[in-house]
Amino acid sequence: MRKQNKINFGARKKKKVDAKKVAIVSIASVVIVFVGAKGIGATTAFIQEQRQVKIEMDKKAEEERILAEKKRKEEEEKKKMVIGVNHNGKEDSYDAIEIAKKLKAGDYSNNGEKIVFLTFDDGTSTTVTPEVLKVLDENNVKATFFLTGENIERGGQKAKDLIKQEFEKGHAIANHSYSHNYKILYPQRTLNLESFNADFKKTDDILKDVLGPYFSTRVIRCPGGHMSWKGMEPLDAQLEEKNMASIDWNALSADAEGRKKNAQQLAEYAIKTSEGKEIVVLLMHDTYGKEQTAKSLPQIIKHFKDNGYAFKTLA
Ligand SMILES: [Zn+2]
Repeated sequence: MRKQNKINFGARKKKKVDAKKVAIVSIASVVIVFVGAKGIGATTAFIQEQRQVKIEMDKKAEEERILAEKKRKEEEEKKKMVIGVNHNGKEDSYDAIEIAKKLKAGDYSNNGEKIVFLTFDDGTSTTVTPEVLKVLDENNVKATFFLTGENIERGGQKAKDLIKQEFEKGHAIANHSYSHNYKILYPQRTLNLESFNADFKKTDDILKDVLGPYFSTRVIRCPGGHMSWKGMEPLDAQLEEKNMASIDWNALSADAEGRKKNAQQLAEYAIKTSEGKEIVVLLMHDTYGKEQTAKSLPQIIKHFKDNGYAFKTLA
């Protein structure tokens, strides 16, 4: 446009035309300059607009790239997550939510397929847990350990090493609170969800400390049993939201109730309480003082093997 204007002025000077022509040419020039200026303005605005569009497109592309990268990283993190059991233990694990539903409904049928879950509470102990692990190993069966943080800390590094051993052998690791203190968890026999969550989180943190930051479990057992307390509805809602399961039991060796029993009596109790059930969740304890439980275990395992049960873990 500028070039065109110059040419017009140049033409006027060269031809030396009369005043009228000069005036017309001048007006025409002014019009051209005006229109031209307007055109330049419009062009500049257009270029700026285009530039703006490009900046915004680049920005959007960058945002999309960052989002895709974030998603990719999240997927990668997800793959590293370990829930309840390690890779080898997965084939023996069973959906804990399904079992929790069955237990709650009192429905222990399983289409003719018999499964037993050996569960051990309140560990880790440095005295009984090693014996339990030895028997499980000898019989090549897997179990679920419901751990309490306080006992893990009580056992120090030795207890932590035992958890690692449990995990590495393919047993399932679950949370059974930190304190196991009914007064903290359920004051006046009623759930205090805030205290409950804080208490369970402590054990979660310990488990992450022992098994790595990618470890988590979606299985808990309420100390004293979910069935024993009032006001549990908020916990149930929370568990459902988090895709977690609270597991009680439908059979027990009674190694923590009534009169102290010897190994034979414990085994008999376990067998009696699991009779006629295709799904058996057997409650036992591997905490301090439960030496007889470890001794009863070979007989208990033999009974379930002889009766065609598959040994599964809760994860
Ligand atoms: Zn317990």
